[in-house]
Amino acid sequence: MLGPALSLIHTGQTPTRSALTRALDVTRATAGAVTAELEALGLITVDSRPAGGGRGRPSHRLAIDPQGPVVVAGQIHADGLSVTLAGLGGLLDPPVHLPLPAATDPVRMLRAVAQAGAELARSTSRRCLAAALALPNPVTEPDGTALAALHFAWPSGTPVADLYDVEVGRADHGPNAVRPLPTAIANDANLAALAEYRHGAGRGARHLLFVTSGHRGVGGALVIDGHLHTGSAGLALEVGHLTVDPQGRPCVCGNRGCLNSETDPDALFAAAGLTPEPGRPLLDQARELCWAAATDERARAAVEHVIDRLGLGLAGVANILNPDRVVLSGLHLDLLEAAPDRLRAVVAERSLWGRSGRVPIVGAELAHGALAGAAELGWGPYLADPQAVPV
Ligand SMILES: [Zn+2]
Repeated sequence: MLGPALSLIHTGQTPTRSALTRALDVTRATAGAVTAELEALGLITVDSRPAGGGRGRPSHRLAIDPQGPVVVAGQIHADGLSVTLAGLGGLLDPPVHLPLPAATDPVRMLRAVAQAGAELARSTSRRCLAAALALPNPVTEPDGTALAALHFAWPSGTPVADLYDVEVGRADHGPNAVRPLPTAIANDANLAALAEYRHGAGRGARHLLFVTSGHRGVGGALVIDGHLHTGSAGLALEVGHLTVDPQGRPCVCGNRGCLNSETDPDALFAAAGLTPEPGRPLLDQARELCWAAATDERARAAVEHVIDRLGLGLAGVANILNPDRVVLSGLHLDLLEAAPDRLRAVVAERSLWGRSGRVPIVGAELAHGALAGAAELGWGPYLADPQAVPV
C-alpha cells in the first residue's frame, strides 16, 4: 500500500488524503496510517490546517516534502553533459550543463558525469539516494551495455551500467549520500517518455507513443498502461531507423533515408541549404530555423520538407502500435508548433484509419525530459518500496 500511495502523490494524482483514500479504495483510517508512515519517512508532508479559512472537516493536503531526499539525475548527449538533483514529484533543480570532455571514450565521459553529480550531492543537505543516467544510445536489458553508440564511436557492447557504477562509487558524494549509492542507466528517449507519462503531456494516456529528436538522431518509446515497452532486450521502439525516403540522406547506421537522418537538426539545415554555425548547440539553431518559418520562405520550405518525412514515419509507427496519444519532443516539438495542421494531415493521410481515427499529436511539456526520466529511474526502487528509504 505504501508504494502505490507514494506513486499517486509523486504523480500529483492525489493532492488530498480524501483523494488518496478514494484512489486506493481503502478506509480513512488506512489512508491516515499510510500517509503518516510516508511522512515519518521524510517523503511527504501532511497539512491538516483548513484551507482558505473555511469551516468544517479539515481536508488533509498531501505534498512532497521540499526537504526530502533527492537523487542525482544525469544525461550524456551529443552537445554535452547535464546533471541535476531531483526530489520526488518530478521536482528538478535547475540543471548544470557541461561541455563534452576532450576525450569521449566511455570511461572519461561516465567519470565526468559521475563527478559532476557527486559535486551536486555534496552541495546539498538533503539525503541522496541514487544516481541515474540517460544515454543517447540503446541500452540492453538487463545487463546494461551500450549498443550502436554511433555519435561517440563507443565500442558496441560497452558495459556502461557497470562502468557508471564504478565511477559513481569512486566519486565523493558527501556525508548525506547512501553508501554504496545505487546506480541505474537507460536510453534517453525511453526515460523522457516515462517522465512525460508521469508528469507531462502523456498523463492519462494508455498507449503513449513518444518520438523525439533531442540533439542528433531520432529516438522513440512506448509506454503502455504506465510501463515502458522495452522489448525482449531493452531495444524496442528504435523508430529512428525506419526508412522514410529510400533515396534520402545517409544515416549513421549505413542506410539511407532513415527517420533518424531525415528529421533531425542536421536534416533541417540540409533541407534549407544552410550550414549551422560552429560552437553553438545544433538543436538551438534548428529551433530558431523552425521559428523563422513564420516569415522566411526558405525556412518554411525546409520545415515542410522535414515535416512530411516525420509524418510518414509517425503514421508508419502509429499504424503498427495504435497509440491513443503521440507526444513529440526536441526538434519534433518545434516542427509540430511551426506547422501543426500539416503534420497532423500527413499522419492522417497515411494512417490506416484515416482522418476519422486520428490520434492526438501533442507537444512534450517537460523542459528537461531525459533528466526528469533519469530521476524517475533513480527513484524507481523507492517508489516500489518506500521503506527502502533510509531514515
Ligand atoms: Zn539509420
